Amino acid sequence: MGLRSRIKIGLEIHFQVSDGKLFCRCPTETSSNELFRFERRMIATTSEMGSMDRAAKYEMERNLLSEYVASENSCLVEYDEEPPHEVDRKALKAALIASLALNCKVLNNIFFMRKVVVDGSNTSGFQRTAIIAINGWVATSRGKVRISSVSLEEDSARLLENGDGRSIYSLDRLGIPLIEIATEPGIIDELHAVETAKAIGYFVQASGFSRMTVDAIRQDVNVSFGYGRVEIKGVQKLSLIPEVISYELSRQESLHDISEKSSQYLGFYREEPQVHDVTDMFRETGSKILLSNIRAGNRIYATTLRGMGGLMKSGKYRMGKELADLVRRYGIKGLFHSDELPGYGITQEEVDRLWSKMKKTDEDAVLLIACPTSLSEVLFIEIFSRMAKLLQMDLTETRFAADDGSTFFLRPMPGRERMYPETDVPILRISDETIHVMRNDVPLPMEETISMISRDYGLSSQDASVIVSTFRKAQLEELSSLYKHPKIVARFIMQTLPELEKKYGRKIEQHKLTRLFTIAGEKNWIREVLEKAADLMLSGGLDPDAVAGEEELSQLGEDELRNIMVKLLASSESETNERNIIARVKKETGRPFDAAQAMKVYKSLSKV
Ligand SMILES: [Zn+2]
Repeated sequence: MGLRSRIKIGLEIHFQVSDGKLFCRCPTETSSNELFRFERRMIATTSEMGSMDRAAKYEMERNLLSEYVASENSCLVEYDEEPPHEVDRKALKAALIASLALNCKVLNNIFFMRKVVVDGSNTSGFQRTAIIAINGWVATSRGKVRISSVSLEEDSARLLENGDGRSIYSLDRLGIPLIEIATEPGIIDELHAVETAKAIGYFVQASGFSRMTVDAIRQDVNVSFGYGRVEIKGVQKLSLIPEVISYELSRQESLHDISEKSSQYLGFYREEPQVHDVTDMFRETGSKILLSNIRAGNRIYATTLRGMGGLMKSGKYRMGKELADLVRRYGIKGLFHSDELPGYGITQEEVDRLWSKMKKTDEDAVLLIACPTSLSEVLFIEIFSRMAKLLQMDLTETRFAADDGSTFFLRPMPGRERMYPETDVPILRISDETIHVMRNDVPLPMEETISMISRDYGLSSQDASVIVSTFRKAQLEELSSLYKHPKIVARFIMQTLPELEKKYGRKIEQHKLTRLFTIAGEKNWIREVLEKAADLMLSGGLDPDAVAGEEELSQLGEDELRNIMVKLLASSESETNERNIIARVKKETGRPFDAAQAMKVYKSLSKV
């Protein structure tokens, strides 16, 4: 089949910038306090350029209500009740430096555009975005990868809940500046994609303003195997890139097989599929899903898909899943197809009656859907057009990556009508002089930074390389300035913290980490106490100041050490020596202490 030989990969990487929001002066960080909520129903109008975008139309047909949680770091700009303020200067500077580091041509005139977004993730119904620079490259071990553009845009609202025709979003993330870097589709394979993402990430992170929280970097992977570009959004971790690409390859191979087999039957195109209301056949059904739909006033519809028998779900064939993903976007869970029936409480007898009514032959498949009458028409149009599109191997669409590396259908690929000018933001003029000055801030190449980190902080070059390539350089620098044991800091951020966060399934926010290391520095904590404090913060969901007061963390100070030793020496001076003093202090107290410091105290005492 050779789909793999036609692989083309491009990346779009988004980095949050931490200084403040892009078009107001709200901070990027917030405690998760809820001020109030409000609702909006998105109505996609034709854009100011005339026609209505396909993706927008699709979202509108889903007719979702959005509810917004106003956080402390949101204002009238996020509520879409006030025009945008001036562009955040630091975010712009970060985007310019990243552009120069990626060898791009910076544009002298920067225009913000409105990109239509109707899924509710923007209160205004659009996202503001501007191209900052174009035509660059980044060096990799397998040659240069071309950068098509560097953009500056506002992040969307954060989805909290989704279901029952309603989406709930928090405004805490809305408006955070994002630097978006798009490559040409010149990436060779999965590993090259990871290397490219790391190389690009390095330059953005090294420009100094990138945010250090978990979801601060998000990748979209664009992949094509010769049957149209698939844009996979929301790839959260670099390590997921290969899995997402290989999932997409096997999905497309499977669709290719289905397409070939179904065209042998000439099936799907032989006649236009008819939709029948079969609710009455299931009034007494044992299927919980069907029954609860009937009770809710929904109807059950069936349609015969000619030539699709055995192709809905057979081995790795997944046409059934493709359709289930589609209807789930409309909030519909009750979809069954003939390859999985009888099952789900639907009996052989019911199936036989249905097949007979639907005139199903062995070559055919039958689809059964429970949904509100109001949705049925648009739903079947979507299903039939999606099936026709997939069977013709027109695989262009936008998908979303799940945490396990699988992907699911999100929406059709947005058309060209998606953008129109943002007239509320003045054109930004970037002089050659400004560009010239910014060149001084372009970060060193990655190798030079690794050796610098290794030298300045006394880390092995391997550790320094991990710190730099996992975008933890700024974090190392900040925490080491507060707590002057860079080796312990490095071990903590590379190993201890990720392990603890995995164990407890929650994260320590950056400002709390900063506070923890401030306390650790002031109290000169040993590694064990620092690690114990992080453990307590995560296990109890506590603040650093709260855990610092815990008994088991109260590390002995110098005076306390001296007092204990004076006592020990007084009681049995002859038995106390340099070799056993640490053990004896341990025996005397249950509290942690710094052994090196204790030894120093001991020496000062025994000199006297
Ligand atoms: Zn604001």
